[in-house]
This record gives sequence, structure tokens and C-alpha cells, in this order.
Amino acid sequence: MSESRTEISSLGEFGLIEHLTRNIELQNASSIVGVGDDAAVIDHFGKQTVITTDLLVEGIHFDLMYTPLKHLGYKSVVVNLSDIYAMNATPTQITVSIAFSNRFSVEALSEFYEGIYAACEKYGVDLVGGDTSSSQKGFVISVTAIGEVTPGKYVRRDTAKKGDLICCSGDLGAAYVGLLFLEREKQIYLESPQVQPDLEGESYVIGRLLKPEARKDIVEFLEIQNIVPTSMMDISDGLSSEILHICEQSKLGCVLYEEKLPIAEEMRKAAFKFEIDPTACALSGGEDYELLFTMSQSDYEKIVLNEQISVIGYMTDAEEGMKINTRGGQVHPISAQGWNAFKK
Ligand code: ADP
Ligand code: MG
Repeated sequence: MSESRTEISSLGEFGLIEHLTRNIELQNASSIVGVGDDAAVIDHFGKQTVITTDLLVEGIHFDLMYTPLKHLGYKSVVVNLSDIYAMNATPTQITVSIAFSNRFSVEALSEFYEGIYAACEKYGVDLVGGDTSSSQKGFVISVTAIGEVTPGKYVRRDTAKKGDLICCSGDLGAAYVGLLFLEREKQIYLESPQVQPDLEGESYVIGRLLKPEARKDIVEFLEIQNIVPTSMMDISDGLSSEILHICEQSKLGCVLYEEKLPIAEEMRKAAFKFEIDPTACALSGGEDYELLFTMSQSDYEKIVLNEQISVIGYMTDAEEGMKINTRGGQVHPISAQGWNAFKK
């Protein structure tokens, strides 16, 4: 914690809001009225508006024992922007609502907002409003993101076609393994506080959990390449659960290839330390915030050189079910939890 502690009560609610939002400079022409009035005003100049919201509750979605407040602020924004990009849209504004107990000081909330503003700057979005309340216990965060898309260019989950390639950005499973490390160190700390945390060498997987990014670059790449994915979503709950959504909503089946799943070397090594299967982590680990999309086979040449995009399978008839071909040449059904290897 920081050296000085200013009680929220010394500023009051309005003083606190003013303190947290005093330096906002609106970046988007579409942000007409921002913080300070009864509501924000947004002009999307003939574009369609995309909107998404997420609620994050201390003890359920995050643990402040190992989550720095600045990272938490950043991540709270990024997870919402990821949903906007997953619609093939561009995020433009956010609102942030918070409730906090008297455990939190002005300094702590300022740190949280530093993370919020860092994400706003990185992704070019404006903070245009929010709400502030106290809570009896813990920290509650609600972020709403608003974006814009050329009419009709949004991409849904229910429009994949048979034969389409299934693609995924970045690499999968690392955030989950990062969580395993942090949870392990937390337990050790609770039992023996004098023991120094041993997270040496795990910065990649831990960073993937604590400081995820939204795949703005992928949406921009697809646009430049003139690729409109046939379906798209972001991977927040794990690949297998997300591909099930695309299959069910598009009324299709799929085949994935284990050897094609993008796995970072850091994740593979880290998974072995916990004696778990990296493939299971890639299928079932959550919070990667990568994009999962399908596209026509005729677009293959346009993506083949992009190392940030992996083709991991293809869409089939619904009757074929949802399957994964393993390295060993076996075929397993995919369930929302991934596959059985995960439960060993
Ligand atoms: P109201 O009483 O109408 O709800 P508030 O006093 O809650 O208004 O908010 C005043 C202004 O400050 C509004 O523009 C609101 O969107 C903004 N605001 C309130 N809380 C936050 C916050 N935590 N972060 C950013 N903006 C906020
Ligand atoms: Mg209010």
C-alpha cells in the first residue's frame, strides 16, 4: 500500500468523482458530452452502436491479494473492449461504476483509475460516465463499453458456414496457468507469511492473467485484408466452451486439431510444473481474451503469413458433432470442460 492514506470521507462523493475524473480529455469526435452532466451524449455519425457490460465482484472475479489495483483497472476495461472487438466493431466510450467499502482510500481508487486511463489511452476510448457508491464489504466494478461499426458489418456467433476454417488469435491457456501459480503462492503465504513468493520465470503466464490485451490488432488486420469473418467471439471462458457456442448457434459441428492449438512455450513448461496437460489448458483455461473466428476457406491465403492467427480446424455438419483429433491420431468429442484429459 502507498505511504499516505486519504479517507474517501475527506473528499465526499462529488469530490471523489471530481478527483478521479479531473484530467479526462475526450479523444473521440463521437464523445459529445462526457463526465459531469446527468448523462453522456454520443454521436455515432450514422454508424451502428455496439454495447456490452460486465460486472466484476471482489472474491468472485478477482482477488486483491495478488491483483494490483492498477492492473485490475486495466483489465476491467480490456475485457469489455474485447467483447466490442469480437463484434468486429471499434470501441469508442466506456462508463465505469464502482462500489467500495471503507477499506479503500482515495490513493487506492486513484491507482485503480490509473489502470483505467492507461487502457483508455491504449485503445483510444473515452471514459464518459459512471456511478459511485459505497458497499458494506469489498469492491464491485461494472464497466460498460460502447463501440461503433459500419451498418451491417458486425459479426455474430450464429453465422458460421459448413467448411469454414476455424481460426484463433495469439496463444491459449496461459492465463489459467498464471492463475494456478498465483493461487499456489497465496496458499503458501497464508500458511507461512515469511516465505518469499516463488514466481521466478513465470512472468509470461502471470502477465497473461493480470494484464490481458484485447485483440484490436487482429480486427484491424482482418479489415485491411478485406476479410469479414463469418462468425466471431472472444475467448473468455476457454476455447472448448466458446466453440460450442459457435457450433450450437450456427447449428453446425466442428473438427479441431490438437497439434494446431496455439500454445506458448512458457505455458507448456508451466503446465508441466503442475503436471497438467497443456492441451487441456488451451481448451479449457479461461481469460485469454483471444479472438475465435470462422472464415471462408477462400480467405486462407490472406492469413497464412500472420503468425498471430492459427487455423485450428473447420466447421462441419451438426450431425458430425464437435470433435478434436489428437496428436496420437485419436478422435475425442469436445465438451464445454474441454476433454477428459483435463480431469486426471
Ligand atoms: P447522478 O446523481 O445523476 O447519478 P453522479 O453524481 O453519480 O450523478 O455523477 C456525476 C457525473 O460523474 C456523471 O457524469 C457520472 O457519469 C460521472 N461519474 C460518477 N461516478 C463516476 C465514476 N466512478 N467514474 C467516472 N465517472 C463517474
Ligand atoms: Mg450517480
